[in-house]
Amino acid sequence: MKKIVFCVAALVFLLVLSVPSFASAAQKLIQPVNNAYITAGYLNAKYEQRFGFKHYGWDLTSSSGSRAVWASGSGTVLATGYDNVLGNTVIVKYPDAYIHSTGKTRDLVFRYNHLDSIAVSKGTRVTKDSRLGNYGNTGKYSTGAHLHFEIDTDTVYYQYSPTLASSSNIIKAGTAGTVLSPRSVLYTKVSDPDNQSIWIVGDGYQSSSEDDLPFIN
Ligand SMILES: [Zn+2]
Repeated sequence: MKKIVFCVAALVFLLVLSVPSFASAAQKLIQPVNNAYITAGYLNAKYEQRFGFKHYGWDLTSSSGSRAVWASGSGTVLATGYDNVLGNTVIVKYPDAYIHSTGKTRDLVFRYNHLDSIAVSKGTRVTKDSRLGNYGNTGKYSTGAHLHFEIDTDTVYYQYSPTLASSSNIIKAGTAGTVLSPRSVLYTKVSDPDNQSIWIVGDGYQSSSEDDLPFIN
């Protein structure tokens, strides 16, 4: 009997030991602007009507006056520079991101556009406490300071975006099949030091039915 108890205890111990190596891989990604208004939502119908093309990301502005754009988790900067159409651009790869809409874990790429300034360079390792830059109004079609960002599961052809019909110098014309809605990935981290919040405002290029807010974390 004693032997059986010991065996069970040993098994439980081994199971407990093995759990962290399963669970530690996935990371929850948080929103890139701490106190954010969504000013244009993902695939917003009014946006498409007005501009004649689909909106494959979110546009965010800050309610606090800070234009800081923060990394969403642990990752590596794949590319930075001035794109002739989309302005100052940063592309970051986040490995093992938890996608709450599917319950699955995948490597993701975020493309950030219209930045005013860039604070990282290719190869920079980032965490959620790394500032990527400040959002701004750079690029051909930006009509005011905001962050436009897209989330893509294609981490090989990461510079290809469905936003462009013809390729530019950094961002190339891509297809939409691998792009995810930010709401299916992001979390709002309400605790220190991020103290995040997010709102859907007005009745412009966003709506509560299309742009459910991220999960609280
Ligand atoms: Zn946008």
